[in-house]
Amino acid sequence: MVTVGAVTIDGVQRKRANRLLLAARRSRARARLLSRLVLLGPPGAGKGTQAEVLERKFGICHLSTGEILRDVAAGNGLPQTSALKSALRYMRRGELVPDATILELVRERRDCLHAHQGFALDGFPRTLPQARALNRLLLQEGLTLDAALEFSLPMEQVIKRLSGRRICPNGHGVYHLKARPPKVDEQCDRCGAKLVRREDDRPEVVRARMNAYEKSTRPLIAFYKEQGLLITIKAQGKPNEVFTRTVNALKRNL
Ligand SMILES: [Zn+2]
Repeated sequence: MVTVGAVTIDGVQRKRANRLLLAARRSRARARLLSRLVLLGPPGAGKGTQAEVLERKFGICHLSTGEILRDVAAGNGLPQTSALKSALRYMRRGELVPDATILELVRERRDCLHAHQGFALDGFPRTLPQARALNRLLLQEGLTLDAALEFSLPMEQVIKRLSGRRICPNGHGVYHLKARPPKVDEQCDRCGAKLVRREDDRPEVVRARMNAYEKSTRPLIAFYKEQGLLITIKAQGKPNEVFTRTVNALKRNL
């Protein structure tokens, strides 16, 4: 038995009190994290993976425009909103979904933008006009951006990562010959189908994608730097190592 002030508490109550104290400390630690984020970085830098862990560990809402568009294209969940319907029309015609529609898709995820623990935008903005449009949208929503995280990875490493990537043709996810190999060589763990390489991940295509990425995002990076929001994180190494660097940067830059 322990006496705290005028209240006597037993072991069970003490455990519970400790748990609450720990949770409160954790939530204060969370509150000290920059958490309204734009994620930048070349394909293969691991933005999506980092965003998923930020969501799992800190409740930061992961908003991936690429994922939304892939879901629409695959028919996962009926397109109910006007922006989703519009995106679907462009994709069916084999056209690029225009900026205005992408911006609407983001605006429609108000729950995510206003999430108490913050948001991580992944795949948007990609260009300077998109970044300006995002600033206007956030202003309208009464929100401000905390940071733009740039995950940097040298070209040769990007090629190495992407050329080892394989996907299940039946949509059971992404494998990597070295980093995340299937149990049986070149076969999907879930359905046994032979894994395939996306056309996009061929080395010559990766080079072209990297060049396009650098050309379109260089002004974007300068834009966030000017606003004092840019934080660059080295994306070499294992995902958990990159995650440690990310969390440290989000704390240090407060
Ligand atoms: Zn499969």
